[in-house]
Amino acid sequence: MEKGAQPIIIIDPKKEQTKGREALNMNIAAAKAVAKIVKSTLGPGGMDKMLVNPIGDITITNDGATILHEMSIEHPAAKMVVEVAESLESSAGDGTTSAVVFTGSLLEKAETLIDNGVHPTIVVKGYNLAADKAVEILENLAISVGEGEKKILVKVAKTSITGKASEKYNILIANLCVDAVLAIHEKGKVDLKRIILTKDVGHTIDETEFVEGIVIDKVSLEKDFPLKIQNPNIALIDAPMEIGKTTNKAKLQINNAVDFENFIIQENAALLEMADYIIRAGAKAVFCSKGMDDKIGAYLQNRGIYATRRVKSEDMQHLADATNGKLVRNIKELTEKELGHAGLLEQDRDGDQGNTYLRYCKGAKSVSIVIRGETEHVVDNVERAIDDALKVVKCVVEDGKVVPGGGASEIEVALRLRSYAASIGGREQMAILAFADALEEIPRTIAKNAGLDAINSIVNLRAKHAENESGGLNIQTGIIEDMFEKGVVDPLRVKVESIKAGSEAAEMILHVDDVLSAKSSSMPDIKPEHMASTYDGMSAPQLNMRR
Ligand code: ADP
Ligand code: MG
Repeated sequence: MEKGAQPIIIIDPKKEQTKGREALNMNIAAAKAVAKIVKSTLGPGGMDKMLVNPIGDITITNDGATILHEMSIEHPAAKMVVEVAESLESSAGDGTTSAVVFTGSLLEKAETLIDNGVHPTIVVKGYNLAADKAVEILENLAISVGEGEKKILVKVAKTSITGKASEKYNILIANLCVDAVLAIHEKGKVDLKRIILTKDVGHTIDETEFVEGIVIDKVSLEKDFPLKIQNPNIALIDAPMEIGKTTNKAKLQINNAVDFENFIIQENAALLEMADYIIRAGAKAVFCSKGMDDKIGAYLQNRGIYATRRVKSEDMQHLADATNGKLVRNIKELTEKELGHAGLLEQDRDGDQGNTYLRYCKGAKSVSIVIRGETEHVVDNVERAIDDALKVVKCVVEDGKVVPGGGASEIEVALRLRSYAASIGGREQMAILAFADALEEIPRTIAKNAGLDAINSIVNLRAKHAENESGGLNIQTGIIEDMFEKGVVDPLRVKVESIKAGSEAAEMILHVDDVLSAKSSSMPDIKPEHMASTYDGMSAPQLNMRR
């Protein structure tokens, strides 16, 4: 939205217009209510929310973006906050809760300023100046990370998932996310679509693994085929490997036993010819997207060649990406050139079911993470954690910049903003000071959620930073420590986007001084897609939860 433009918002059709202070108060209250809902989930000591939909499906999460997404929020101002948070989820992938808490705090401070006679426009102007300055300060604070600095990437990944998955598995998950991103990054860019997440319920979380290659939910046609093949060349056939059924028009004339025998001989010869193309090309494994005659399967497997059929077309594409092979439509054209390659083909089979892993694929364009856990809920939770970790690692691999977490950055930015405010003067100065105070709401909340004394924590943090030291909160002890040593590190991009998003949402709400209801005919018909409600007792009067 253009700065200075006055957005018009559609609201309760019963009331035609809410003006001025009343409109502003109503909007601020709604946005603060959203912030209040997610506040208790912020930081490593944050609590979870249980989201229940009408069919009784349960999601337990402390992921701000997920909570806001699953709740039906109807108030227009509250919706604006949610939308800003959602856009953050796609731009940086983390920092959503912080942004929403920050918005709530900015609006609370704005209320006081407005009560004291500062015009909302001045508040917006001050917040705008402060946001730009905050980004500049953050960029100066940031520390560079080289491409190969795996240790720091693991710290970033681990910080993003603290409190999301069980503490015990954080290191494992952080490591495999870093491995996956490093395996596919190219010229400083990371395309997360190249990392395929597969779920495997019924195992323990610590069996979650990174596969430098691909996993297919298929096994060889023959049960007693060897479970491992080293260094296989792989044929990817995107055509049937069977003789097509005779159509009605082309009737086959078989008059006697000799004819029949000839027919079978011919058919077998055609089938074996197909198999021979695979053998001649030098493949040790063949994945076929369509049907494959049992005779071909048996013939190939007798010669030590793994064979499987009816592989989904998207898996065929992933196979090509992972093994650097080409899908071949005409089997007669198959040569060594089209074959893919893996360091190891491994089957994990249980009767006719199971998976085939292609591991150690050098230069794979796509890789996999197999998420394991005892139940679907566990697996879903681990998936959300992995999703976050992958995004933050992507940010750091692409930008090469990190900042200390645990409140260290917010406190330092607040400190420097206060001296900046003095240089601005006037009424905007008050808004800049309010902005600095609002930023401190993040460390304050992290401390509170971890059961620490929030006031003491802020006082100690401020004191350290005023002495030219950095440091963030050790949430176990409450002592201010070096966050890089502690391994609490956030991507610069996440912090920057989170502050920008938080202040944008607040500025948008402060800009509204008139809420009009459109005629009912032009009211959009809003259908809830996600039916969910929160059951944590934090009901917010301004919000309608979907029930
Ligand atoms: P968000 O949705 O904003 O990412 P989180 O619940 O993930 O919310 O909390 C992120 C905040 O928690 C960041 O400011 C981060 O630095 C901080 N944090 C994460 N792990 C720790 C830790 N072990 N100690 C202190 N602070 C931490
Ligand atoms: Mg986070």
